[in-house]
Amino acid sequence: MTAAVEIRRAVKRYGSVTALHRVDLSIADNEFFTLLGPSGCGKTTLLRMIAGFEDVTEGEIRLFGDDIARLEPNHRPVNTVFQHYALFPHMSVIDNVAFGLKMKGVDAATRRDRAGRMLEMVHLSAFADRSPAQLSGGQQQRVALARALAPDPKVLLLDEPLSALDLKLRQAMRVELKQLQEDTGITFIFVTHDQEEALTMSDRIAVMSEGRVQQVGTARDIYEAPVNRFVADFIGETNLLEVEVEAVAGGVATVALPGGHRLTCPSATSATGRHHLSIRPERLTLSQDADLTATVERVVYLGTDLQVIARLDGGTPFTLRLQNAARVAAPEPGARVGLHLEEGAARLLAD
Ligand code: ATP
Repeated sequence: MTAAVEIRRAVKRYGSVTALHRVDLSIADNEFFTLLGPSGCGKTTLLRMIAGFEDVTEGEIRLFGDDIARLEPNHRPVNTVFQHYALFPHMSVIDNVAFGLKMKGVDAATRRDRAGRMLEMVHLSAFADRSPAQLSGGQQQRVALARALAPDPKVLLLDEPLSALDLKLRQAMRVELKQLQEDTGITFIFVTHDQEEALTMSDRIAVMSEGRVQQVGTARDIYEAPVNRFVADFIGETNLLEVEVEAVAGGVATVALPGGHRLTCPSATSATGRHHLSIRPERLTLSQDADLTATVERVVYLGTDLQVIARLDGGTPFTLRLQNAARVAAPEPGARVGLHLEEGAARLLAD
């Protein structure tokens, strides 16, 4: 099937700065796809190249099979929602939503009808005749979404659209946004630095760092099977231990843990030698049958779980999260504890 957006070996340079290094991505039609990474990783640049606000230094971008390099932004079948939604303050809500249609020469009756339907979709029909200043921040962002969807783009680009909202509203909007994407069937490309936002909404996520795509996959893929240190560390919390790989075959490695215990676990590398092992803090239990031994330094009550900050024999800092804080007996600072790794707790990383 033809991809909605196909990015091939895309490079972006600003003078001597290379913002993107040969990026390849294929985004399917009807997908909620997220570009996730820390500030400066190049996610906004990539989005702006798809929109046509930046040109592509090398490589190509195809929309439904067509090379769009020479198309002006307003001739591309895409629309963008920005963090600062910039509604027109002197126009009513419904006129804001109808604005893009007016620019396209759509007649007044059709405009009003379509804008009305868009407002219904974002649950704001009752606010059609208000001015934007009479709406809350969340409502204004929903108007901006309705405005961007009104001309029926094939792809909607969203550049950190929730980051100006407070936490509760942001969480509610995540659910709404995903629902809106499913209802419209439009391909959404969403940019964020917030991993929780990415994990909640996306069909697939591209994790980016320093102008490169590090890994593409579902939320579960990138959390359970990170390929490298950057992804393991950026998605959720993890402990990174340097270990000696004794053998590796068929995606399974045997490693020697500090303290001498041996462990077999899934591996993202096929090379022996020294590599990093990622151990998720919530996949450990306190046990006599220990894979690792540590000394507890601090215990933090976090409501849902207990965070135990410890140090492995040998000195490496190590964190555990014991689920169900109300029921679990907290170890005392200074106690020596045995740690048992549950199934799927550890994964050997490529670099
Ligand atoms: P943020 O979340 O802070 O917006 P980002 O991941 O979206 O970050 P980009 O804005 O895409 O990152 O920037 C990627 C790199 O390109 C950065 O190193 C940035 O400084 C550089 N860059 C972006 N725009 C320009 C420009 N117009 N001129 C020069 N360098 C730029």
